[in-house]
Amino acid sequence: MDVLKLEHVSHSFGEVQALDDLSLSIAAGELVCLLGPSGCGKTTALRIAAGLEHLQHGRVLLDGRPVADAKRDMPPEQRSVGLVFQDYALFPHLTVLENVTFGLRKQPARKREARAREVLDQVGMADYAEAHPHMLSGGQQQRVAVARALAPRPRVMLLDEPFSGLDAALRNQIRDETLHVLKESGAATLMVTHDPEEAMFMADRVILMRAGRIVQAGPPAQLYAAPTDKFVASFFGDINRLRGIVRGGRAATPFGDVDAQGLADGTEVEILIRPEALRLQPLGGEAKPGHHSARVMAARLLGRSSMVHLSLDNWGSTDDGGQDVHLHARIPGRFLPPENELLEIHLDRSQTFVFPAEGAR
Ligand code: ATP
Repeated sequence: MDVLKLEHVSHSFGEVQALDDLSLSIAAGELVCLLGPSGCGKTTALRIAAGLEHLQHGRVLLDGRPVADAKRDMPPEQRSVGLVFQDYALFPHLTVLENVTFGLRKQPARKREARAREVLDQVGMADYAEAHPHMLSGGQQQRVAVARALAPRPRVMLLDEPFSGLDAALRNQIRDETLHVLKESGAATLMVTHDPEEAMFMADRVILMRAGRIVQAGPPAQLYAAPTDKFVASFFGDINRLRGIVRGGRAATPFGDVDAQGLADGTEVEILIRPEALRLQPLGGEAKPGHHSARVMAARLLGRSSMVHLSLDNWGSTDDGGQDVHLHARIPGRFLPPENELLEIHLDRSQTFVFPAEGAR
């Protein structure tokens, strides 16, 4: 049963259409990330779910009951939602314990403190109950903000860029911890982020948006492996791009043909190749006929993998225009071939996508 549901929600700010017929639903215990570039409407969707933004069109349902539609717009405090924002929004004059207890003011006084201490313990902040927010680091404040939101046991948790104020190392740790407490809580969670890596780390399902509309939704692995358009394919990390023309249902690359995925012959296409789809092997000296080779421009160790920048000089037949192709390949582990070395390239076609080029008919 879906806990949170948005049905055909549209929303405008004057001339700007922030949301255009957005529908989504989230089950209990499910973590869904709203992902997309700046201005695509993520925050507006979250604010409408929370009741912080007045609904204009569509419906919001909680546990199957409308909380906002043409007739009603239930205020945020009457919806069973927990909110966490980027700036934590803790009350500076209250202690950590008082901040968490504040969210429990509808419960009997004697139960409040026990519940607040329990949830502070869950986020590892039990020892800081008497501290004031200004005495805490950003990561600790973020933990308290999560505890405060979770304390009343909301059916829905709404988080807006909750980790963007933290530095990189701490961010990874807090993401990990937050994922655990959210999963433990069983709440239906909607989290806004513009960071694809964060969405892939956190989400059971990702809803990728552009200009107020959903472009593609599904488990992150599905969006990564089977993007439905160029925007989705290139949103998750950098990607190699080649241009080509469809002939006989296939598009040529310097490493053999790939299936043109049903596009008509003559269509100008862009061929997108994930860096990890290129496999490299030493060729030993000169290029051999029938082998696909490339020259190393630079190789860099990125930690757990290496990035090899490659050049293919003047590839393609003359009627394709010929292109000087620069590619980058991501190789697991340490692989640092010297500059100018010739390498043999193999292409993993399952990580190669063909879409019509911009303006192609
Ligand atoms: P970001 O990641 O930058 O926060 P977002 O995807 O969350 O972006 P929204 O904040 O929902 O996007 O904004 C969607 C559109 O609506 C943008 O064009 C934005 O400028 C506009 N907008 C949002 N809030 C208001 C407002 N209160 N008044 C006017 N325009 C607004």
